[in-house]
Parts: sequence; structure tokens; C-alpha cells
Amino acid sequence: MRLAKSVVGVFALLVSVCAFGQTRPNLVLISVDTLRQDHVSAYGYKRKTTPNIDRLLKSGVWFQEAYCNVPLTTPSFGSLMTSRYPHETGATRNGVSMLVDMETLAEILNRNGYATAAFLSNWPLKAHISNLNKGFEIYDDNFSQKRWLFFNDERDAKHVAELASAWLSQKPRQPFFLWAHFSDPHQPYLFHRGFNFSSKSEPASELQNKIDAYDSEVAYVDYYLGVLLAKLHSLGYDRNSLVVFMADHGEELSEHGYTGHGRFLYEAAMRIPLGLSGPGISPGGKIQAVVELLDLAPTILAYLGFPPGKEMRGRNLMPYIRGEKSWPEHYLVYFETYPGAVRGEGMEKVANIKDPTWVGLKLDNLKIHYRVPGSRWEMYNLQADPGEKKNLADPVNQVFLKYSEELLAWYRSWEKSVALGRTEALTGEDLKKLESLGYLK
Ligand SMILES: [Zn+2]
Repeated sequence: MRLAKSVVGVFALLVSVCAFGQTRPNLVLISVDTLRQDHVSAYGYKRKTTPNIDRLLKSGVWFQEAYCNVPLTTPSFGSLMTSRYPHETGATRNGVSMLVDMETLAEILNRNGYATAAFLSNWPLKAHISNLNKGFEIYDDNFSQKRWLFFNDERDAKHVAELASAWLSQKPRQPFFLWAHFSDPHQPYLFHRGFNFSSKSEPASELQNKIDAYDSEVAYVDYYLGVLLAKLHSLGYDRNSLVVFMADHGEELSEHGYTGHGRFLYEAAMRIPLGLSGPGISPGGKIQAVVELLDLAPTILAYLGFPPGKEMRGRNLMPYIRGEKSWPEHYLVYFETYPGAVRGEGMEKVANIKDPTWVGLKLDNLKIHYRVPGSRWEMYNLQADPGEKKNLADPVNQVFLKYSEELLAWYRSWEKSVALGRTEALTGEDLKKLESLGYLK
């Protein structure tokens, strides 16, 4: 009798698991490389660069103070997929792969029956140098398209949208996890016909020309992101999918004398657009609270009905999004960055670089940066000085003392145990490609 009962119980559990399994939502992750938050029109940018992204963000919840934890592509996606810092994943730089034993969001979903497919566009995400293909049944990183006359090979937004749309049209097994990554706003910036914001009356300065070209890339991506969203809608997948929109990091456009990302931890590179939309998420939810990319995987898993991965550090934001909990008034975010990508002078040197160049923290309007080589400190009041120009670091300032100690204690807690991923797979071609993307050292 007891056996019969337990069989019935197991049977009931199986039925409910199967039934639940079929009703789990799909996950569509749409990421744009190098998209700074303040060039997205929904976030207040003066140019209408992003009508489709705006619509997507406003169809769900979107975060005004969303931060990446590291402003480099492979490390940032390593942190997104694992909810761990780069010093834990081993992927500290572009060209250094994540450790093989890191459990990823894609692996968890695939193990639970999700069909998984990714369509990439940026060289640092190549499987053999990133390990980011972990958990993906399809990881399409086989791109060799030349962007106009430029040297570097990648995929443009049109091609990414076409490939992801074609995969959806084949009616993939459900539930599924589709990741589409667009890279066009990454350097070099190109003008796209039909997406030009340049002034016709005045000649542009060099800086303005750079900004105009960057915005043209952003608008171009937005158009093809709209094509992919239209496909999702026409196939009815938007009715049962969580759609996550994000950037892996932003971009400095000559602020602090530098154009690019990865070198510093300033707001232009760290603040990202981020939004979630799907059944059960109320539209129009503009959220002021501070969130970080580490929070994304646990949040996605919770929405889909799974517990977080065992090693995941970030928060499950769903109770806050659903209004079951109040957002914390104060939330501290830590940052780290490493010396660009790999060095092309020899593999031994590549493998030996473990130290970050900068670590940082943000709490409310306070931002502290610590340059590890040379022990240089910076502190900014983001409310009074959002451009981080006036360094307030001062050893007699009590706030500085308190939070510089806090940052140093965090860094000291892991500086001796920085994980180092694999670099052996890097080929001469990889080094050339990474160099062409600006990752020289
Ligand atoms: Zn990137």
C-alpha cells in the first residue's frame, strides 16, 4: 500500500513536472555590445536613436541605475552567465576563457529541457577563447563578414537578426533560450545610410563626428533589433517568453581623454541599459533602484521557475519587480577591470597577468576607484559631478576613509586567488582580431 502510494506520488510529481515543463516560458536574451545607457533615447538621449529598444523597455520593467561589473565583453558575459565576478570565473580579459567548471545559466536551462541557441557577432565571444558556449546546443560564432572595408571580421546587425529569426521560424523545441548578440556600436564606428544624425548645416568637429558615427551604429542595431522583435511577435513567442534586453558595458566617447572601454570604471562604460519584459511583468515599470549584471541570472531563473545556481552571487530581483518586497534604499556595487585584453607578445606573458588595473565601488552618489598598480585613489560625488571630473579623494575625508577601506578589504579578500582561465587556445589570428578591436594590451 505504501509502495502504491509512493508510485502514485511519483507519477503525480512526474505529471506535474511534465505539465509545468511544457508551460515554462522561453527566454530571449538580446544584448548589444558597447551600448552606453545615455545614448538610448528612452533614457533621455536627445536623439531618437532607439525607437524599438524604447518600446521593448517600456513594455516591461527597466532599470535606471543598472551596472555591469566589468567593462569588457568576455568577462562581462562570463559574469552574466554565472552570476560571479571575473576574478572568480577566470575570464578576466578578452581572450581569456571562463573556467570549465563554472556553471552557467545556459547549462542550467539546457539540463532542464530548454533548447539553447546563440547567434554571436563579436570575436571575444568565440567559443574556443571564451568557453561561453557552455550549455548551448547551437553556438553560432562562425562569422567572417567584413564590415565595409575594415579589417575585423564580425557579423552586422542585419545578419544577426536574420539568423535568429530563421532559427525561430524553424519552430524550435520549447521551451527555448535564444541569445542574440549585436556588436555594431563597437569600434570602429561606421555611418549607416538612413541612420544619420549629423548636422547638415555645420561641419562636425572630430569629436562630434565620432559621436554621430556611434549614434548611427546604435540606430542601425535598433532597426534590426526591431526586425527580430517583429519576428518574435509574428510567431506568437512574445506571449510566452521573457525578453531580456541589456548591454555588456558602455563606451567612453573621449571623456577622460579616452575612447573605448575596459581601461577605466567611469560611468559611461559601467552604466548600461537593462530591461525585462514578459507575461506577468507590468509594462511601464521604470525602476530607480541600483541593480548589477550579477543579479540577472538568478532573476531570470526565478522568473522561469528555477532556483539560482549553487554558486551564484547575485540577487533574485523578482520579488522586488512583483512588488512583494521593497527595493533596498542603499545598495553597494563592486567593479573590477583588467589590462585590456591579451598581449600579443607571447603566451607566457598572456597567462601571467592576473592583477586588475582598477577596482571600484558605488554606493548611492558615492563612487570610488582604486588603481591597483601605483595605488592611486579617486572619489566622486555622482550627483554633483556625474562626469567624474573632480577627484575628491582625500585622506582626511571621513567618507573617503570609510569607503576606501571597504573597497580595499573587498579587493584584499580575493587578490591572492584570482582565477585564471585558459589562454592556450588563442591563435595568431585571434590575437590579430582582438588587436583590430582595440584590445592591444
Ligand atoms: Zn563588449
